Amino acid sequence: MAEKTKMKWNIKDIENWGWKKVPMGATIQEAGNAAYYKTGGWRTEKPVVDKEKCTNCLICWINCPDASIMVNDTKMEGFDYDHCKGCGICAKVCPPKAIEMQPEGGED
Ligand code: SF4
Ligand code: SF4
Repeated sequence: MAEKTKMKWNIKDIENWGWKKVPMGATIQEAGNAAYYKTGGWRTEKPVVDKEKCTNCLICWINCPDASIMVNDTKMEGFDYDHCKGCGICAKVCPPKAIEMQPEGGED
C-alpha cells in the first residue's frame, strides 16, 4: 500500500473561511487518496476464504473493484478489510466457491 502523505488542506480555522476560500464543489485535491479512507466501515457482510478450497487462480483479485484481495508471491492471502466494501463479487466469481460472504460483526 502507498505510504501516506500529508494532507494539503488545513481546516483548523474553517469557520472563518469566506466563500472565496472554499474549493469548487466537493473536489478531492490529491490523486491516490483511497488509502486514507477506511471504506470497509460501511460493510454489512464480509468475505471469508476457505484456503482448503482456494486454487490461487486470482480471479477474485482481477474482479475486486476495491483492490482488496491481498496477494503475496502469486498466492491469495486474504482480504484488506479496511477497504473491502463487502460487495460479494469475489464470492460470485470464485470458481471453486472458496469465498463465503458472512454477516459483519458476528464474531465480536
Ligand atoms: S477466485 Fe477463489 S480460488 Fe481463485 S484465488 Fe480467489 S479465492 Fe482462491
Ligand atoms: S467483497 Fe467486494 S470489495 Fe470485498 S474483497 Fe470481495 S470483491 Fe473486493
